[in-house]
Amino acid sequence: MDFGIRGRNALVCAASKGLGLGCAVALAKEGVNVTITARGAEVLEQAAAKIRAEAPGVTVKTVAGDITTEAGRQQALDAAGQIDILVNNAGGPPPGNFRDWGREDWIKAVDANMITPILLIKAVVDGMAARKFGRIVNITSSAVKAPIPILGLSNGARSGLHGFVAGASRQVTKDGVTINNLLPGRFLTDRLKQTIGAQTGKAGAELEAEFEKQAASIPAGRFGTAEEFGQVCAFLCSVQAAYMTGQNVLLDGGNYPGSF
Ligand code: NAP
Repeated sequence: MDFGIRGRNALVCAASKGLGLGCAVALAKEGVNVTITARGAEVLEQAAAKIRAEAPGVTVKTVAGDITTEAGRQQALDAAGQIDILVNNAGGPPPGNFRDWGREDWIKAVDANMITPILLIKAVVDGMAARKFGRIVNITSSAVKAPIPILGLSNGARSGLHGFVAGASRQVTKDGVTINNLLPGRFLTDRLKQTIGAQTGKAGAELEAEFEKQAASIPAGRFGTAEEFGQVCAFLCSVQAAYMTGQNVLLDGGNYPGSF
């Protein structure tokens, strides 16, 4: 299926590896020019090279910076130019015990996983509406639907973003702009390795065995891949998905057991 977005321009935040990179690759394979960001310049350039190799012909720009800062966001917006597609992403907050978190920890989590995507949406949405096309996908977490106690900062901060998106998405969709949240369950990335390591206190061979056990416990029998995550993101950005907005799309291999 042709997703009808060839020649469009995307800003994909936090995309030098993992789920963000999966989204950038999938969009580029649909002919979308991508601007990708991350803090570490070296890995970011490696990611850009991978995208260019897998999707020859598209323009790939890189912006090294912290997307959770005002300066990082402005640099990314300036480099990307006209943005038709925005994929919001940033590193997730650290796991821990809520008794250990103070105001600064909460401000940091809310800044990264709620306020940053809201400010980026605000920066691009009116231009998209004026041009009658826009796609915004926020990478959040299945923890919004089924909170994971050790990830309290993530559960809380991301829920705020979901509340905002539920309202804002309805205010812009008449003008061809959709805003959806894409909720990963467990995907085999560096972040998952850190989270499972922190949750279980295991390392080395023990951690590998824990990985196998957890993967087998998912109805799909495995962790997800960044590639398949990216392909669903690309679909949400397609012309075919124009009537789909304000949705929380759970991608978890059937792990969430409820009907709704
Ligand atoms: P990952 O493999 O660790 O990749 C994170 C990417 O984000 C890297 O490219 C990293 O590069 C970049 N990044 C992190 N903080 C940044 C910042 N402040 N500014 C710019 N770039 C930044 O993580 P992932 O698994 O893809 O996770 C992506 C998001 O999905 C996270 O919020 C995570 O919590 C959430 N999530 C993941 C899973 C999962 O199973 N993987 C499940 C639920 C939710 P630099 O470090 O160089 O900046």
